[in-house]
Amino acid sequence: MKDNIMPTYASQDIRFVKGDGAWLWNEKNEKYLDALSGIAVCSLGHANPEIAEAISAQASTLLHTSNLYRVDKQEQLAAQLCTLTGMDNVFFANSGAEANEAAIKVARKYAHSEKIENPLIVTMNNSFHGRTLATLTATGNPKVKEGFSPLPTGFIHVDYNDISALEKAAEKHSNIVAILVEPIQGEGGVRIPDNDYLNKVSSLCQQNDWLLMLDEIQTGVARTGAFLASQHNDIKPDVITLAKALGNGVPIGACLCAGKAAGLLTAGSHGSTFGGNPLACASALKVLQIVEREQLASRAEKLGDFICKALSEKLDSYDSLVEIRHKGLMIGIELDKPCTELVARALNKHLLINVVANNTIRLLPPLIISDEQAEMIVNTLSEIILTF
Ligand SMILES: *Cc1c(COP(=O)(O)O)cnc(C)c1O
Repeated sequence: MKDNIMPTYASQDIRFVKGDGAWLWNEKNEKYLDALSGIAVCSLGHANPEIAEAISAQASTLLHTSNLYRVDKQEQLAAQLCTLTGMDNVFFANSGAEANEAAIKVARKYAHSEKIENPLIVTMNNSFHGRTLATLTATGNPKVKEGFSPLPTGFIHVDYNDISALEKAAEKHSNIVAILVEPIQGEGGVRIPDNDYLNKVSSLCQQNDWLLMLDEIQTGVARTGAFLASQHNDIKPDVITLAKALGNGVPIGACLCAGKAAGLLTAGSHGSTFGGNPLACASALKVLQIVEREQLASRAEKLGDFICKALSEKLDSYDSLVEIRHKGLMIGIELDKPCTELVARALNKHLLINVVANNTIRLLPPLIISDEQAEMIVNTLSEIILTF
C-alpha cells in the first residue's frame, strides 16, 4: 500500500514493471520513453543484458563477505577508477550522500592534521549534496534544512560561479579547509559555470591549501562528454565523489582521494558494512567496461549537441524560453515561468522528464539512446512546451 510508504516524494501515480534500454512499461503494458534515467542512474539503459549477466553471475558466486577481508572486485574497481580519474585511492559507500559524508570527514581529518580549530568547508548557494544531516547542511538550499535543526556546524555558503565571493570568504575566514562544489549544479537547475570557473577555484585552493572536493555524483561516469565533468578543465582535485550512474541501478557510492587527502581515513576512522561489496562492484566494473568500449562519453557529447540544437530550432518562436543549457546529456531548458506541471503533461505523452528549480526542465536520458529516440524526445517535448 502507498499509505505504508513515508510520503517523502511527491510521486506520479504510475508504476513501471519492466524496462528495456530507454523504454519502460507500466502494468497495462503501455510503453514510455525515459529521458531521465531514474535521475542519471540508468545511463546504460534499463535491464541492460550485460549488467544483468554480471550481477547474476556474481550473485550465484558470492554476494557479500565483509570489508574485514579483501574483496577482489572492489580492488579491481578502485584501480580502474583511479586510472580513469588520476586519483590515488577510493572509499566505497552505498549512495551519493554517503560518498559526500566521507568527503566531509576527509576534510575534517585534514583540518585536524593541520591543527586548524573549528574548520570550515565552503559550499555553494543553490547546491545539492544529499539528505543526511551533514550533507543537507552542506546543501545550499534552505528548504532542504527546514525542521532539522540543530544542524552540524562548520559550513559556509557562497554564490556559485563567483570567484570574488570565494576570495572574500578567504579574506574573512582563516579556518577554511575545503571547498565542496558541483562541476554543474544539477538539482539547482542545470547551472553550468563559466568555462574557467573550476580552474580558478582550483588555483584558489592551491594558494590557500584548501582541499578541492568535487561532487560529481550527477555529472560523473561519462554523462557530460568526459568520464568526469571536471576533466573538461584539466584540474587536479583532491577529492571526487561519485554515485548515481556508477552501478547503473545497483546502489554504490565512491569517495576518491588524491595526494594529501588520500592518507587521512584509516582503520577505525570510517567504514561501511555494505560499501564496495562484491555485487555492487561487479555491476560497476561492467558499467566502466561498457562506457569505455561503447565510447559513451563522446556519444553523450554528440547526442546532447543534437538534442539541444534541434530543440532550440523548434522552440525558436516560443516567447517563454529563457535558455537551453547543456553539457553532453545533462540538459536544462529554462522557462520564464514555473513549469512543474510539464512533468505530468509529458507523462501523458509517454515521456519521462523532470523539472528542477521550479522553472527548468531537466533531461538526463540514458547515454545509450538511439538517434531515433533522441528525435522522439525532441518532438514530444517541443510539442508539450509549445502548447504550454
Ligand atoms: C543525487 C545527488 C546527491 C545525493 O545522492 P543520493 O544517492 O541520493 O544520496 C548528491 N550530490 C549530487 C550532486 C546529486 O546529484
